[in-house]
Amino acid sequence: MRILVVEDEPKTGNYIKQGLTEAGFLVTLASNGLDGHHHAMTESFDVIILDVMLPDVEGWKILQSLREVGMQTPVLFLTARDSINDRVKGLELGADDYLVKPFAFVELLARVRNLLRRGSQSTVSEQVKISDLLVDIPSRKVSRAGKSITLSQKEFLLLELFIRRQGEVLPRSLITSEVWDMNFDSDTNVIDVAVRRLRAKIDDGHDHKLIHTIRGMGYKFEDEIEPDEQL
Ligand code: CA
Repeated sequence: MRILVVEDEPKTGNYIKQGLTEAGFLVTLASNGLDGHHHAMTESFDVIILDVMLPDVEGWKILQSLREVGMQTPVLFLTARDSINDRVKGLELGADDYLVKPFAFVELLARVRNLLRRGSQSTVSEQVKISDLLVDIPSRKVSRAGKSITLSQKEFLLLELFIRRQGEVLPRSLITSEVWDMNFDSDTNVIDVAVRRLRAKIDDGHDHKLIHTIRGMGYKFEDEIEPDEQL
């Protein structure tokens, strides 16, 4: 389980990182908003802990921009004691929970575990139907409009990632790290070739496309065609 912590105060940041690491999580600590935003957009996390008072980019901006690209990672934000407006704003922007500073670590841990539980309930079930595409995850059987499709192992992993993160714009770097287990400065051409192959098997010959290229950003798997994304 991976957690991103965006916190500019070194003391608080290290305290959270150490506690969560001891609790068995893989923790990435970003000490400013820009780094935090970059990590959130290019890597995959199970929970994001976000301090809203950051010196460079406001925590709200980060949260807003994640939700704008459809990223649904649970976000727990940290706010000051007296700021009720903050809490309302955060929840309106799509945060999942908040914690008022100062807090006890056990409280933070309980909130994080709660978000992970909630998150796991919404992950994909074993059989998934998207439009006329049927995917049986355990047996790796895939068919579209009743016709069975054979996928390579990587193609299946790619499809599984697309299904898990439906509707989100997935940067190539994220796809690389999730499916290929490589660093993101690796050759992203590999991703384009794999997506092209998967697309040929899944979308070719069907009017209704599921894999969409988002120019300059990455790919999106979605059951809906938006007119400006048809290319
Ligand atoms: Ca702060």
